[in-house]
Amino acid sequence: NADRAPMLVYKDVRKRYGSFTALDGVSLHVNPGEVVCLIGPSGSGKSTLLRCTNGLETLDGGEVLFEGKPLPKSDVEMRGVRQRMGMVFQNFELFPHKTALENVATGLITVKKMPADEANRRAMALMAKVGLSDKTANYPSNLSGGQQQRVAIARALAMEPHVMLFDEPTSALDPETVGEVLNVMRQLALEGMTMIVVTHEMSFARRVASWVVVFEKGKLLEEGPPTQIFDAPLKERTRDFLSHLG
Ligand code: ADP
Ligand code: MG
Repeated sequence: NADRAPMLVYKDVRKRYGSFTALDGVSLHVNPGEVVCLIGPSGSGKSTLLRCTNGLETLDGGEVLFEGKPLPKSDVEMRGVRQRMGMVFQNFELFPHKTALENVATGLITVKKMPADEANRRAMALMAKVGLSDKTANYPSNLSGGQQQRVAIARALAMEPHVMLFDEPTSALDPETVGEVLNVMRQLALEGMTMIVVTHEMSFARRVASWVVVFEKGKLLEEGPPTQIFDAPLKERTRDFLSHLG
């Protein structure tokens, strides 16, 4: 029964870059409506796991099941799967020559084949949802980092993803705009969106995550609810990692 299947299942996932092992047997479940935060030192494989999820990388071993089915091998089928995964990157990656509204509407027109007026209406609603109704005509260069990232989230939501993947969505932002992005993400979580979030924002992870996964050298060091990870970690090295964040 696909409705009750986990959204994502990782089974012994392995990924190498040349002789370097980036993922060394990662197993993990993400259930519908869960917010899973991936934390851990730089280079521990967090981004690689997201890239293996949406087909930006192919696995060297193990498998990833999305909504009960293994990720397809063919590019054409993978494109269909990727439409159901919204990806938000550290550096926004908006189309610089399109307005904020056009950034959100474009996928609806080109991929979903929606008539332009309907696409624009939907895009307007999404811009309102991320608190940017007054910025629809702005180009990315005339938006703050936090505003650009909120447009990127709206653009991803336009495709009606079943899961949202965030890779350090606030790491490139000025400190004063971090909160507005985290607020949008927290609202999405409250609405029941399934999310995987790579983040160094421990207060966000503590408050919003249903499950926290600590990476170390391509493996899971420890996983559990935020109360375990932040208040009573089972592994000394989890405690070490968190204390070094300051
Ligand atoms: P994290 O997101 O936890 O910081 P990554 O998943 O980006 O870590 O990277 C894990 C390791 O894999 C890093 O040491 C990185 O240098 C290496 N790596 C990532 N992508 C590539 C690549 N395309 N080619 C070679 N090495 C890579
Ligand atoms: Mg990374």
